[in-house]
Amino acid sequence: MAARRVKIVATLGPASFSPETIGRLIAAGTDTFRINMSHTSHDAATAAVQAIRAAEARAERPIGILVDLQGPKLRIGDFADGAVDVEHGATFRFDKSRAPGTAERVHLPHPEIFTSVAPGDRLLLDDGKLRLDVTQISADAITAQVVIGGSLSGRKGISLPDTELPVGALTAKDRADLDFMLEQDVDWLALSFVQREDDIAEAAKLARGRAAIMAKIEKPAAVHRIDRILERADALMVARGDLGVEMPLQQVPGLQKSLTRAARRAGKPIVIATQMLESMIDAPAPTRAEVSDVATAVFEGADAVMLSAESAVGKYPVEAVEAMADIAAEVERDPLYDSIIHAPELGPDENAPGAISAAACSIAKSLNLALIICYTATGATALRAVRHRPSTPVLALTPVPETARRLALAWGLRCVLTDDPSDLDDMVERACGIAREWGFAEPGQRVIIAAGVPLGTPGATNMLRVAFIEPASRSRP
Ligand code: PGA
Ligand code: MN
Repeated sequence: MAARRVKIVATLGPASFSPETIGRLIAAGTDTFRINMSHTSHDAATAAVQAIRAAEARAERPIGILVDLQGPKLRIGDFADGAVDVEHGATFRFDKSRAPGTAERVHLPHPEIFTSVAPGDRLLLDDGKLRLDVTQISADAITAQVVIGGSLSGRKGISLPDTELPVGALTAKDRADLDFMLEQDVDWLALSFVQREDDIAEAAKLARGRAAIMAKIEKPAAVHRIDRILERADALMVARGDLGVEMPLQQVPGLQKSLTRAARRAGKPIVIATQMLESMIDAPAPTRAEVSDVATAVFEGADAVMLSAESAVGKYPVEAVEAMADIAAEVERDPLYDSIIHAPELGPDENAPGAISAAACSIAKSLNLALIICYTATGATALRAVRHRPSTPVLALTPVPETARRLALAWGLRCVLTDDPSDLDDMVERACGIAREWGFAEPGQRVIIAAGVPLGTPGATNMLRVAFIEPASRSRP
């Protein structure tokens, strides 16, 4: 069975909240839905979770739900006249006075910025359209010179790519959203503007295992600490929207490659996000450049590609998912795909379960087996196996529905729920029976099974078994 390996994440919004559209998005290939808390009320989010779970029951495959927290998005205050023109070369001040702004100054309602910036730091306003460089700092004011001017209106976002701020990744709104959403049946929590590994630890503590944590990489501070962030996070998102504001846009493609390699080396899922099929917000077909962008992520071995506005507010949400699925299927059939996806040097597997998963992939290849089957409780064994991006399909078997749903965004994994086997014979028969019934392998074909003995012990993969798929009549009822 040649299923698509790369997964598709679709953001829900007014264009796609209806249960009918959610069903069509799943049929078109969506593996995980993203609920963006920057734009979604608690009522709408609750309804979306219920609609996804109802559609999932009909689809008979696990579907993930990713709750994306807004994070500390910084904004300037208001202007007396709505907007001002800030001119190149002029001096402009950000201060603590709540008085409406003028062409010379504006309120900056984030006291932590005043104690963190240094002369020379860049201040980017309105998604990077305007740039000012800090020249002077006092307790109450930051003076800056305008390098790129333009019109500036109130409440616009401000980014400080050169400044590390003493704020966590969770605001009061994020905490309220987290508390509310984790009472529901969701799988992933994405943290925006992560700067350091402690941000992830803080969220993980609040999540108490109810969701896995995805770190959105959109700040230079996070890029510089990526190894430590990868140790703590369960997955990464390359959040190219804000990343392309906080860092020079032309660096984003290289960063996407290095972040993808780092995540693959660590065996943690990585999602490539933002503007992948942007023109499909208004058009039924993508541009050549967008097709190439999605294809690049697939060739790089990303776990998932993501739709944002295309599926949340666009005119063609279903067509956008179909376009991604078509591009992915074509790339994965390309004769060069195998050599390109296997180009990165991943380094050795540092523990026994990892080495055993790697061995399963290599045995499957040399013996030309039909399928790799992993028994997995936490999902770790299955992720170790697909870390190697094997050309043999991989089936994950788990008794834990939450594990199956989390793995929905991981490269190449098909998940089926089943009880823990009672003994080794049951383990083989159960795995082979599911492989046959679901059409992953046919009678006469051989598969390799990875499991931990004693059975049902998480994190103890220590056994491989090659087995024949028997015809249906000869297996146990
Ligand atoms: P956002 O994150 O849509 O929440 O801003 C994605 C990005 O910045 O690319
Ligand atoms: Mn962002």
